[in-house]
Parts: sequence; structure tokens; C-alpha cells
Amino acid sequence: MPVDDSCLSGFYRLDPEARRALLTHLSPEALEALSSGGGLDEASADRMIENVVGSLALPVGIATHFIIDGKQWLIPFAVEESSIIAAASNIAKRAASCGGFSTSCDEPLMIGQIQVLDVPSIPEATSVIQAEEASLIEFLNDIPSTMIQLGGGCKRIECRQVEDMLILHLIVDVRDAMGANAVNTMAERIAPRIEALTGGRVLLRILSNLASERLARASVRLSPDAIGGEDVIAGIIDAARFAEADPYRAATHNKGIMNAISAIGLACGQDWRAIEAGAHAWAAISGQYSSLSTWSIDDEGWLCGSIELPLAVGIVGGASKVHPVARACLEILGVDSAQQLAGIMAAAGLAQNLGAMRALVTFDNNSKLHSTRISWIWPEIDEEGPLIWNLYRTQLTVSSVNFMAPLRTGLSGEAGEDAWFNETESGLRESIHLEQYYYYVLIPIDVVGNSDYLVRPGNSRGIVVHDQYWSYHFPPPEPPPPPPPDVPYYGPSPWYGRLLDDFGMGRFQQAGMVFIAVFLTNLMLVPMMINKYRVKKRKVRREKARKAKRDGTMSTDEFADDFDDFFD
Ligand code: NAD
Repeated sequence: MPVDDSCLSGFYRLDPEARRALLTHLSPEALEALSSGGGLDEASADRMIENVVGSLALPVGIATHFIIDGKQWLIPFAVEESSIIAAASNIAKRAASCGGFSTSCDEPLMIGQIQVLDVPSIPEATSVIQAEEASLIEFLNDIPSTMIQLGGGCKRIECRQVEDMLILHLIVDVRDAMGANAVNTMAERIAPRIEALTGGRVLLRILSNLASERLARASVRLSPDAIGGEDVIAGIIDAARFAEADPYRAATHNKGIMNAISAIGLACGQDWRAIEAGAHAWAAISGQYSSLSTWSIDDEGWLCGSIELPLAVGIVGGASKVHPVARACLEILGVDSAQQLAGIMAAAGLAQNLGAMRALVTFDNNSKLHSTRISWIWPEIDEEGPLIWNLYRTQLTVSSVNFMAPLRTGLSGEAGEDAWFNETESGLRESIHLEQYYYYVLIPIDVVGNSDYLVRPGNSRGIVVHDQYWSYHFPPPEPPPPPPPDVPYYGPSPWYGRLLDDFGMGRFQQAGMVFIAVFLTNLMLVPMMINKYRVKKRKVRREKARKAKRDGTMSTDEFADDFDDFFD
């Protein structure tokens, strides 16, 4: 069962508990197994192998962003090496932008070998076996077995001559099992009949781990933009050519592929030795050990990669059935057949291969593109005697760095003094790498060399290495000037401060000028208008007085009052 969203954005920044909380499709048993620190109790461990004295836990992480056959998958990896999951997720994200990976798998056919010695005539024995093939197959499949009921069982018997030996291959469909036990049982059961039919002596009767009838294939196609440009594609093609032609390079190239395939196999309780043996034998099938993958450029200039290898994996039987963490990892994946599991492993192997090649071809010793810097202030520590400090870097969220190698030892400084540490990417695997998350941890050591090596929030710091190409090669563009602060000026008093602020505003100044102009105009016009009104008024009164005098209706006193007004 694939998931709705394999991106889980920001997943790497969370702590393990918060990450588990996002795996909402898991059963309570699976979540408990994942959080149990290894998941295997001593009694179960003691039943699995001999002479048990303990068990070994490995970190289980999830590769994100995978789109395979149009569906989204979260892929569990169990592995002790850092950067593997980050690199696989990074390529999965790039591939997702171009449609993701496609897979196809053969039927789950395993090969059981029967070695027949001292055969009087190998050609005659071969003819007899071929003539009896149907009855031999019927005999082999005539047992009560779920595998056979589900359509599995022996399908063919083939004869080969190797030196003076007759070698029989039982081709057995093992359905969703890895199939080793089922095939071994069949080979043992048929041995007496083979001796009788061939006149020879059967020595070995056992599964072949070169599961050449059970190939898984995956392919991917990425645009130049998705992978980092045409130069990167050209570099990858040259790197792939090197691996195809040279076994020394091919061994490391294929190891990169198996970084994913074995890690998924281990997480899901698979027999990873069987997977490794099959993969490397297939890589040498032509007579020269070579690359498991092929890379080319298509007509549109896109990078095309494909991988083909035998993958004998199962989702029933083996450790996938008994180990609680393996069961939880199969639940994370949610595959419903062994073939689907094989396809996903092949796709993850191809992604890992591309991630490793991309990192190798894009790394430039002179560029020093990516770096980290941490700084701190030496603390006041209430301890007897001086302390020295060791600096550690980890990509995992760990509670202690006890078993890790420090980056720097013997650091010290006065309380309150600044200190810092810069690190720049190099070609070495142990160096920091782009788009990865690191924790730097400072651990105090006392004069006799004691320390608790514990990682606490106060002594650790997480850093993501971002792409610094542009800031390294070109000065960054000048940032636009910041807008004037929208903070009121509180000078001598808030009122006065605001007034001063307002004086600085253009609109306020314009409004002030208009106000002053109106005020001055009024100052001149208003007295003139008042004066004009009074003159007019006198004229009217005088006119009225003259008229009254002419008519003889006005007294001399009233006429004199008029002259009072006149001489005001
Ligand atoms: P197994 O012995 O548990 O067999 C699978 C069982 O599951 C069978 O009984 C089968 O009938 C049953 N079954 C139920 N549902 C099934 C389904 N849908 N499809 C198929 N079978 C189904 O497991 P196995 O796969 O035969 O053997 C795997 C184990 O053998 C691994 O642990 C491996 O390490 C070990 N082994 C490996 C080698 C080798 O690689 N050379 C040799 C010996 C043993």
C-alpha cells in the first residue's frame, strides 16, 4: 500500500518520535517495535541463531520522495552509514519532478541445483531427465504447501554439463517467499530419483543464489534541469562508462547501488547476503565484472538510467516473519507481493547509484562551495580544575556521542570569550555535503579525561548545508534600501515629537503653505470689506437725512446726529 504523500516535508528536522507520529498508516505494534531501540527480545534472538549473547541494533531511517510506477512510497533503510538515505531521497525528489521510476520484475522463480557425479553418459542422462520432466515435476509439487496452493512449485527442470558433472536446475516458483528452504527441500526430495534415472551419484542439492530467473528492473529518466544541467549529465555518462569498463571502479559503483538494496533488505528482514551474492554474480555474468546499471542520453538530451539484477526477496518466511522491526518496516513499505518489494529495491538502488555519481561528478576541489560555521561563547562551568572540550558532528539524532570520533579535540577558552568552527565541503565522504543536516555537539572533558558524552539542547546545534554557489561566485545583489521606519518620534514630548515628524512630511508642508496663504489673504481683505460696508452705510443714512430735511420731517438734532456719524 503506497502512501498519499512520500515527501514528508521537513521530516529530517524532526526527532524520531515526531517522525514516527507522521507514519499514520502503521499499527501500534509496528510503532512500538520501531521505538523499542532494536525490537528483538533476548528469547526471540536466542531462537533465531545459536550461542546468542546479545543483539545488535542499527538505525532505521526512511527515504522519502519516491514515486515508483506512479505511486508514492516511503522506503525504510537499516544502515549504519550516514548520507545514504539523504542521497537516495535527494535523487528521488529530482526524479519525482520527471515522473519517478518505472519497474518490472520476472516471476519469482528460484533455481535449486542438483550436482550429479559419476554419470556414465551425460547426454543419455540428460535425455532421460527431459523425458521424465513432467512426472518429476508432479512428484515435486505433490506436497501440502501454501506456496504450491497459491500457484507456486516446480515449473521446469533443466540439465547442464559443467566439466564432467551433470547439473540439474529445478526452476521453482516461490511466490512471495525468498524460497531458499522450499527449494532446498525439493532438491533433497528428488535426489534419490535422479540417482536412479541417471546412474550417477548426487552430492550437492541446494539453492543457487544467482537467481537469474528472478530479475528485477528499474528505470528512470531525468531532464537536464532536474539533475543539474547538461554538464552534470555528461559527467554521469563518463562516470558510468568507467564502471562498465573497469572492475576496480565497478566494485565501488555497485557497492553504491547495494548501499540502498542491502539497507532495505536488512530493514525488511531479507537475507542480504543472498541478495549481495546474487547481485555481484550477475554483475560478472558476462565473464567480466561490470556495472549493474547503464546510463545514456536520449534524443531530447535527458539522462536515462536502468538497472537489472536478481533480487530474491520475500514478504513471508525468514526474518521478515519473526523480527518485529522487519515486520514494521514491511508495514512502512506496505508492499503486497515479493515482486513489488523487488521492484522498489531496484528503483532505490538506481537512485542511490545516481546520487553517488552526481556527487562525484559535481564536486570541484577548487570551488569550496559549501561550508558551515558554528560559533559559541565559552560557558562559566562550576568544576574543579580546567575543562577541555571535544567537538563532534553527527547526522543522526543521538543522545550520546560516546562511541563517535570527535572532529576536534582539546578545545578550550576563557568563560565569556567567543569561539567558532568553520567547515568546508571536501571530496571525502566524511565531509559535509549539500542539502544535508548536521548536529554539532561540544562535550566537556575534565582533567582526568572523564565525560558523560551526553547531547543536550544547550551543547548541540543543527545546521542545514544550503547551496551557496551564487553567494560564493558572485556578490549578491544590493538589497533595496529599507523603508523608513514607521515608528513615531517621541522627542521632548509625544505631541511635540509627532509634530516634528509631521513637519518632515511633504503633504503636511503643502497644507501648511495653503493655510498661511488663506490666513494672510483674509487678514487684508476682511478690514477692507468692513470699511467698505461702513462707507456705504453712511451714504445711505445721509441720503435718508437729506430726503427727510427736504420733506421737513427731520429735527435739527437728528440732522446733527448724522454729522456725529460722519466725524467718527
Ligand atoms: P520459509 O522456509 O519460511 O518458507 C516460506 C513458507 O511460507 C512456506 O512454508 C510457504 O508454503 C509459506 N507461504 C505462505 N504464504 C506464502 C506465499 N504467499 N508465497 C510463498 N510461500 C508462502 O522461507 P523461505 O523463503 O523458503 O526461506 C528463506 C530463508 O531461508 C531465509 O531466512 C534465508 O536466510 C534462508 N536460507 C537461505 C539460503 C541461501 O540463500 N543460500 C540457504 C538456506 C536458507
